[in-house]
Formats: sequence, C-alpha cells, structure tokens
Amino acid sequence: MDRYLVFGHPVRHSKSPFIHTLFARQTQQALEYGLAEPAADGFAEALQTFFAEGGKGCNVTVPFKEQAFALVDRLSPRAKRAGAVNTIKLTDDGVLLGDNTDGAGLVADLKAHGVTLTGGRILLLGAGGAARGCLAPLLAERPSELVIANRTQAKAGQLASEFQDLGPVRAQGYEALQGPFDLIINSTSASLQGDLPPLAPTLIHVDIAIYDMMYGAADTPFILWAKQQGARQTMDGLGMLVEQAAEAFTVWRGIRPGTKQVLRELKRNLGIL
Ligand code: NDP
Repeated sequence: MDRYLVFGHPVRHSKSPFIHTLFARQTQQALEYGLAEPAADGFAEALQTFFAEGGKGCNVTVPFKEQAFALVDRLSPRAKRAGAVNTIKLTDDGVLLGDNTDGAGLVADLKAHGVTLTGGRILLLGAGGAARGCLAPLLAERPSELVIANRTQAKAGQLASEFQDLGPVRAQGYEALQGPFDLIINSTSASLQGDLPPLAPTLIHVDIAIYDMMYGAADTPFILWAKQQGARQTMDGLGMLVEQAAEAFTVWRGIRPGTKQVLRELKRNLGIL
C-alpha cells in the first residue's frame, strides 16, 4: 500500500487524513495517509526517514512549509513563487519534487462558489505565507486590480513589488483603502486570535464576496463582522482546504478526485451539517 502523510506541529487535529482517505476510496487508489508531528528541529530528519522507508509523498503544514522549500531537490514554478512547499512527491526517478497547492485550492473554491475573478477588483488582507502562496494563482485569473493591505505595511509593499510582473498589484495602508472592491480575501491570522483586521465598514456592500481563509465549526469573527455590515456572500477556508488537498492528490496520483461530496462529509464530520 502506498504511504502518504502530513507533517506539521501541532497536527493532531488535521483533517487531511480524513480528506485523502475519502479521495482514495472515491478514486479506488490503494493508499494510506497518516500524521507526523516531529519536534521543531526534527523535520529534516523525519522527512528523510519517511522517504527512505518507502513513503511516496507528503503534505507539509505550519511550521514546516519554508523548511520543506529548502529541503526538496526540485521546485514547481508555483512553489518557487510561493516561497513555501505544502506538497512533496517522490518522482519515479527518485527526485523529491516540492509543490504548493494552496493558491490553486483558493481559486478553485472561489470558482466553485461562482465568484468571478477575471476583471474584478480584489482586496487581499495580510502578507504572510498564505497571501504569498495565493498571489500568482489570483493574478493568473486577470483581475482588474489586486490591492494588498497588511498591518506591517512594508511586508505588503515587498509582496506587491515581487509579483509586479504577473499583473496589476499594489500595496496600500488599511486607512487609505478606497472601494468598491468585488472580493475581499482575509489571509491574516487575526481570526485565530478572535481579532479583526482594521477595515473600514464602508468597504462592505451587498454585492461584495467575502472570503476568510480560516475555518471552523462556527462563523469566523471576520465573517460575522462582514455579515453585520451587510455582506450576503461569505465563505470560509474549508473549501480551500479540500481543494488544495484535491490538487495535491492529483500531483501524486495523476487522477483528480471530486470535491463536492468530500466537502459535505467533512462538514458533517465537523458537526456543521
Ligand atoms: P502568517 O503568520 O504567515 O501571516 C499572518 C498574517 O496575518 C500577517 O500578514 C500578519 O500581519 C497578519 N495578522 C496577524 N494578526 C493580525 C491582527 N490581529 N490584525 C491584523 N493582521 C494580523 O500566517 P499564514 O499566512 O500562514 O496563515 C494565515 C491564515 O490563513 C491562518 O488563519 C491560516 O489558518 C489560514 N490558512 C488557511 C488555509 C486553508 O486551506 N484554508 C491554507 C493556509 C493558511 P503582520 O505582517 O503585520 O504580522
């Protein structure tokens, strides 16, 4: 049986084994998918041991994505752009290929919700790893403009200048933001602390789409706030989680699993449905 797993710390509550087990059943692929939680300084060794013992591929999550980027033999173009690796595949010729499927997962989920990206004006909140991973796939959809706002403004400026060659992207301070935007994506970890990015309520209107990369059993603080300001279309990051996993599964197995039913089962598992 081919072996896969997810490396992270902490990783006990990861839904990746649940998702990939359903994908494998659906596509009739013989594989098992587990969890590994190496110590902060033990990732490189754990990774090497896993592949030496016959592992075929893995996912990598917080806090190891940047280390994985440095450890693989070869990088996909999207991983190179993202500066981080969330998917590793051992190729037939023994090469460890590092990829990043987070941005593709976000774009796939937005499209699954009927959000039009092409020609739209997008506001991206945050300039951390998740924002970096999403910029190239979002710009590939040819929005009219993509504005990045971040608490530490210099980081937003740095990102905008790095991705300049891919499309109309610029950075702006929270207080200087001018609407209207068609879509706001919250890639900050503010919701994790029960906090809100400092966004003016006037930027929310009834036709805007709101996406929070965070997910959980209840609405995130950002989604709750946006609903209170009148937003009708709000989405959390659960769909992104399933879509990035489907993309990783496709990289490993060369076969794309369906995501709708798996997302439904995941919601049931989390007690949301
Ligand atoms: P990072 O730590 O790399 O970046 C965090 C970002 O959030 C920074 O831009 C930081 O700003 C900003 N931030 C943190 N706290 C606040 C606050 N209180 N107010 C305003 N801004 C704040 O994290 P990641 O980019 O890796 O992850 C961000 C989020 O995305 C997490 O919630 C994570 O769970 C989610 N995620 C979801 C995925 C999915 O599949 N659904 C996949 C990947 C990530 P500053 O630069 O000023 O510190």
